[in-house]
Amino acid sequence: MFPDFEYLKPRNLKEALQPLGELGERCRLLAGGTALLVDVRDGHVSPELLVDIGELDVLRFIKVDGEIMRVGAATTLMEIEESPLLQKEASFLVAAASSVGGPQIRNRATIGGNLLYASPGADMAPPLLALGATLRLVSLKGERQVPIEEFFVGPRRTICRADELLTEVSFPIGKAGRGAFIKLGLRNAMAISVGSVAVYLEIDPSTSIVQEARISLGALAPTPIRIKTLEDMLRGERASAPLIKEVAEAAKRQVHPRSSSIRSSPEYRKAVAGALVQKALEQAILSD
Ligand SMILES: Cc1cc2nc3c(=O)[nH]c(=O)nc-3n(C[C@H](O)[C@H](O)[C@H](O)COP(=O)(O)OP(=O)(O)OC[C@H]3O[C@@H](n4cnc5c(N)ncnc54)[C@H](O)[C@@H]3O)c2cc1C
Repeated sequence: MFPDFEYLKPRNLKEALQPLGELGERCRLLAGGTALLVDVRDGHVSPELLVDIGELDVLRFIKVDGEIMRVGAATTLMEIEESPLLQKEASFLVAAASSVGGPQIRNRATIGGNLLYASPGADMAPPLLALGATLRLVSLKGERQVPIEEFFVGPRRTICRADELLTEVSFPIGKAGRGAFIKLGLRNAMAISVGSVAVYLEIDPSTSIVQEARISLGALAPTPIRIKTLEDMLRGERASAPLIKEVAEAAKRQVHPRSSSIRSSPEYRKAVAGALVQKALEQAILSD
C-alpha cells in the first residue's frame, strides 16, 4: 500500500519554495520521482506533502550563457542525452546520463534529483565534479552558489537545506578540454555503478603537456569525490602511457571504499578504481 500524502503542482518557483520554507523535512520535492517514490513506498521517508517540480519550465533548460553552460535542475537525463549542445561541449556528461537505468528511467529522472538523492554512485556527479560545476540553491531567504566539490557530505547527504531547492547546474565551457566517463556495473544495462570515473584534461597540442587535470570517482568512496593528488601527478607533465600507468596505480592506493557496500568488496573496488582511471585517461587523451 502506498502511504498517504498531499500533492502540490506549483505554477512557479515561489509556489514551490513556500511549502519548503513552512514544512521543512515534512515536505519533499518530487522531480522525476524515480528515487523518491521508491523511498516513500518502502517507508524510508514519510512526507506530508510532495511538491512536483518536474514540469516547471523555469527548471528545464540547457543553454549557453557566454562561457558558461547552464542546465536546469529538472532537465531530464533523456533531454541531456539528446542535447547537441551538451554533446558538443561536454560529451562525457552525456555519456554519464546515457548510462543511467533504462530509457523509462531516463525519461523521468532529472539531473537535480540525481545529485540530491546523493547516492555515492550517482552517475551525474563524477562528470560534474570533473567539469568544476557550480550548483545554485535557492530558498525564500535568498540564494547561494555552491561548488559541487562542497555539496556531498556523506552517503545520501548533501549541504542542501530542507528549505532549499536546486535550480541549476552550471559549468565553464570554451576551453579545448577533453573528457571521458567510464562506469562499471554488474551488468550492461540498468546497472547501478560499482565504480565510475570521470576525467577532464586540457593538453597543449604542440607539446602534449597536461595543463589542467580533474579526476573524479563515483561509488568508490562514501561520496562522489575528486582526487587532487592524482590530478597533481598529471599537471605539467607530458601525457604518455607510463604516466597514465603511474596515475592508475596511485588511484588504487587513494580510494577508500565503504566496507558496508552491498555490491562489491572494498578490495575489488580499489582494483576497479585503478583500471577505470587508466581507461578513462587513455580515452580522454586519445579523443579529440
Ligand atoms: C530501476 C532504477 C535504475 C536506476 N539506475 C540508476 C543509475 O544507473 N545511476 C544513477 O545514478 N541512479 C540510478 N537510479 C536512481 C535514480 O533514478 C536517479 O538518481 C535519478 O536521477 C533521480 O532523479 P529524479 O528526478 O527521479 O529524483 P526524485 O526521485 O524526484 O528525487 C530524488 C531526491 O532529490 C530531491 N530533489 C529532486 N529535485 C530536487 C531539486 N531540484 N532541489 C532539491 N531537491 C530535489 C527529492 O526531494 C528527493 O529527495 C535508478 C533508479 C531506478 C529505480
